[in-house]
Amino acid sequence: MATKDEGPAIGIDLGTTYSCVGVWQHGRVEIIANDQGNRTTPSYVAFTNDGRLIGDAAKNQVSTNPINTVFDAKRLIGRRFSDDSVKSDMKLWPFKVRGVGDKPIIVVNHNNMEKRFAAEQISSMILEKMRDIAEAYIGSKVKDAVITVPAYFNDFQRQATKDAGLIAGLNVIRIINEPTAAAIAYGLNRKDRVVRGKSVLIFDLGGGTFDVSLLNIEEGIFEVKATAGDTHLGGEDFDNRMVTYFIQEFNRKHDKDISNNPKAVRRLRTSCERAKRTLSSTSQTTIEIDSLFEGIDFHSTLTRAKFEELNMDLFTKCMEPLEKCLTDAKMDKSDVHDVVLVGGSTRIPKIQQLLQEFFNGKALCKGINPDEAVAYGAAVQAAIMSGEGNIEKVQDLLLLDVTPLSLGIRMATGVMEVLVPRNTAIPTKNERIYTTGFSGQTIMTVSVYEGERVNPKDNTLLGRFELTGISPALRGVPDIGICFEIDNNGILVVSSEEKLTGNKSKLVISNSYKGRLSKEDIERMIKEAEKYKLEDEEYKKTADAKTALETYAYDIRGRVNIHSHIDPSLKKKIADEVGKVINWLGSKNQPWSREEIDNRMKKLENLCNPIFPKEVTGN
Ligand code: ADP
Ligand code: MG
Repeated sequence: MATKDEGPAIGIDLGTTYSCVGVWQHGRVEIIANDQGNRTTPSYVAFTNDGRLIGDAAKNQVSTNPINTVFDAKRLIGRRFSDDSVKSDMKLWPFKVRGVGDKPIIVVNHNNMEKRFAAEQISSMILEKMRDIAEAYIGSKVKDAVITVPAYFNDFQRQATKDAGLIAGLNVIRIINEPTAAAIAYGLNRKDRVVRGKSVLIFDLGGGTFDVSLLNIEEGIFEVKATAGDTHLGGEDFDNRMVTYFIQEFNRKHDKDISNNPKAVRRLRTSCERAKRTLSSTSQTTIEIDSLFEGIDFHSTLTRAKFEELNMDLFTKCMEPLEKCLTDAKMDKSDVHDVVLVGGSTRIPKIQQLLQEFFNGKALCKGINPDEAVAYGAAVQAAIMSGEGNIEKVQDLLLLDVTPLSLGIRMATGVMEVLVPRNTAIPTKNERIYTTGFSGQTIMTVSVYEGERVNPKDNTLLGRFELTGISPALRGVPDIGICFEIDNNGILVVSSEEKLTGNKSKLVISNSYKGRLSKEDIERMIKEAEKYKLEDEEYKKTADAKTALETYAYDIRGRVNIHSHIDPSLKKKIADEVGKVINWLGSKNQPWSREEIDNRMKKLENLCNPIFPKEVTGN
C-alpha cells in the first residue's frame, strides 16, 4: 500500500516502443511531459563511451550507435532464450543477445567495457526514467507505482515486469492489464443501470505491436474474454513504407541510392515519423532534410491521401483480428457496448474510419489521447489503491486481481486438466483427488502448465515435481490430492499429498522458473542501478562543468577584445590561455575528467580575475 510521506503513487505504461507516465492530482489525471516536452518517452536505452542515455536522447543517437542502443526489452522480458519468438526477434535487432542458461542476456559495450544486462534491467532503466519524469513534475519523491502489461502476458512475464520495478527502486503496488487500464480511463467500469455486464473492445495499435482485447466488465471485475492481434504490426511499419517511398523519390530526383547509408536512412525515418504524426491532423505536410546524402538537401511533400495509399493493405490487415477476437469470445459485433482506441497509431484518421465502419458506424471512445489512455487508467488505479478516497468517478471501482491464464496439470492421457480457470479472482485454492495409473506405482510426476490449449505442449510448462514413496497398491486405489493455491501476491504453490499416509511434496512456481531472477540477482541489480545513477549524475556534472568552462572562456575572449586598456603582454597571455582551453575543449574523444576541467577553470580564473572579476562576467 502507498505510504503518504513518499508522494503520490504513479501509473506507468511501459510500452514496447514508447512509455508514458501519469499521476492523479487536483482531482484529475495529469499525463506528465518529459524534459523534452514529450508526453510519451521512447523505451530506448543507449550505452556510450560517455555515459548512459535513456528515452529521446537514446533514440536520437541510434543511427550512430546501433549495436549499443537497446529497445524492445518488452519482447524479451520473462521469456526463455529458446522461445521461438526470441529466436526470430533476435534476427531483427542490431544489438547482441546471448543465452545464459536459458535466459536471454543483452550484451553491449559501455565505457569501453563489455556489459551484460537482463531484460528486467533494461526495463528498470526505463521505469526509473519515468519515475524521474514524474518526480520532476510533482516535486517530491515517488515510490509507489502501478505498471501495465499486455493482457496475454503470462505469469513469468508479469513477475519479471514486477522485478524490473523492484530493480528501479519502485514499490509495484499492482500490475494491471493494458486494456483494463484503458477501460478504467474511460470509466467504463462505472455501474450502469441499464446494462449489467458490459462488453468492451479495446483496439490497441502502437509502434510495433497490435492487440485487440474483448473485456467483460461486471461488478468491478475485468474479465478478458479473448485477445487477438499481431506481434509485428504497428506505426513503425507505416514509417517504413514512407521511408521506402522517399528513398525511391531521392533516387529518381538525384540518381543516388541512399539505402546503404544508415545515418541518412535514420534521419529520413525520423522525419517520416514526424510527418506521419502531422498527417493525422492535416491533409498535407512537408519533409525537409538538409544535406541528407552527399550534401544534397531533400525536400518533398506528402498528402494524407498518398500516405493512406502507401499503407492501405496494412490498415486493412488491422481489421482482421477483430473477427477472430469476436469469434473466440463467441460474440457478435453488435454485442459490443464500447470500442476504445488505444495506442499512438489509432490517431490515424483512416484507421478510425475503418474501425468505425466495421462496427457499423458506432461512435468510438477517443476522448483521451490514445497513446496516453493506458497510463491514464494506471494513474487512476494507483490513486484508488493509495487511498485517494474522494475519487468520485471511480469510487465504486473494486478492481480484483485475477489469474491471466488457466493453470492445470498434464494428465496421463496427454491433455491439460485445468484446476484454476483463467480469470479466477485471487487468492484462491483448489484441490482435486487423483490416483495412480498402474499397479505398484510409487512415484507420480506432476507437471504444471499455464495456458488455454488442450495439448499441454502448446501451453507454458511452469514446473515439474515428484511425489515419491506412494504406498504400492492396485492401480486406481491410492487417493492423491493435488492442490493449487495462489496467495495475494499471485505466487502459486502446487502441492500433492497421498491421503492415506499424509506423505507430501510441493513446488513453489515462481521459484521454479529458471529464467526468473533470484533474490540475490535482484539485490545485485538494485545496487548496480544505483551505481549507474551515480555515474549518470557524475557525467552530467562533468558536462555542466565543461559547459561552464567553455562559456567562461568565450566570455573572456570577447572581453579581452573590447577592452583596449589592458597591458598588451597580459592580453596576449590571456588570449593564449583562452585559446588553449577552447582547443582542448574542442578536441574529440577526451576522457573528460572533472578534475582536469576544474584545474583549467582555476588557472584561467586566476589569470583573469584581477582584470575581470568572475562575478561580473555574468556566467
Ligand atoms: P507502444 O506501442 O510502445 O505502446 P504507443 O502506443 O505510444 O507505443 O504508439 C507509438 C506509435 O504511435 C509510434 O509508431 C508513433 O509514431 C505513433 N503515433 C504517435 N502519435 C501519432 C499520430 N499523431 N499519428 C500517427 N501515429 C502516431
Ligand atoms: Mg502500448
